[in-house]
Amino acid sequence: MPRAIRPLPVHPISPTARQRWGVLQALTLLATLGFVVAWLAVPEVALPLFWRGLLPIVAVLLLLAPHVWRNICPLATASMAGRDATRGLRVRSRHLPWLSAAAIALFVVAVVFRRSVFETSGPATAALVGGALLLGIVPGRLGEGKAGFCNAICPIGPVERLLGQWAVVEVGNPRCPTCTLCTEAGCLDLALDKAPAQHLGRARRSHGWLLRPWGMFGAAFPGLVAGWGVAGSAAVGPAGTATRMLLGGAVTWLLAGAASLSGLGLPRILRTSALAAAVTYAWFAWPAAYHAWEALLRG
Ligand code: SF4
Repeated sequence: MPRAIRPLPVHPISPTARQRWGVLQALTLLATLGFVVAWLAVPEVALPLFWRGLLPIVAVLLLLAPHVWRNICPLATASMAGRDATRGLRVRSRHLPWLSAAAIALFVVAVVFRRSVFETSGPATAALVGGALLLGIVPGRLGEGKAGFCNAICPIGPVERLLGQWAVVEVGNPRCPTCTLCTEAGCLDLALDKAPAQHLGRARRSHGWLLRPWGMFGAAFPGLVAGWGVAGSAAVGPAGTATRMLLGGAVTWLLAGAASLSGLGLPRILRTSALAAAVTYAWFAWPAAYHAWEALLRG
């Protein structure tokens, strides 16, 4: 028997706005498929354009306008287009920790190998993004709404949840005209500011949040970014990158732990962590983005 839908408030969106978002979704999906071809055909242009030129812009969207990104993300489009999003498996609160752990693992592995493998190899980057699209399509389409991919194992999800606390642009959600609660707690489309605490569940009421997969990631993220940036300056391989990220992440996780023990509230710690990570990322990524765009525009 079909389950009754419990509507929840979502940001209202007009049919015209939904159509416009639909056009943008189609364009970003087509652009992604175009990139897959370009990574194989002209990697010397397409690789720096994507990794150094475009990703810092996506990072700004994740910080200031995460809903814009969620509305146009090509992986979400591949996962949700052309199906009945009110049917499928749901994400229960008890599933969140291990789903987070899987998403974080995918993200960290991609970052560790980014410079040495993906930035230098068109086929590797095509396989990475093609694999992410497949991940959106295969488990993604088994889930109700965004329960199969976006709110589950999307590797960008843990970062969206942390950075999204600083959002200044709110837009409607064309993918969920009515919320069916496909994800029991912590959906970013419903409340960006409440999503981190909801995701952490009861652990948010004690220092135990520091040991939950996403809590650990949120606290460690500025250090992970710093370690990744320092590894780039030192031109080390994946093992050196992983070591620096681990050390950096341990430092900021300990700082967050000290802040928690000293009585600072979870929202403040996580917002500070998000801001520190964003500033650190900008420090390392924006000079590279400038050089990438300069080189591409000069031809
Ligand atoms: S993704 Fe799921 S929980 Fe979030 S707004 Fe859409 S239907 Fe609701």
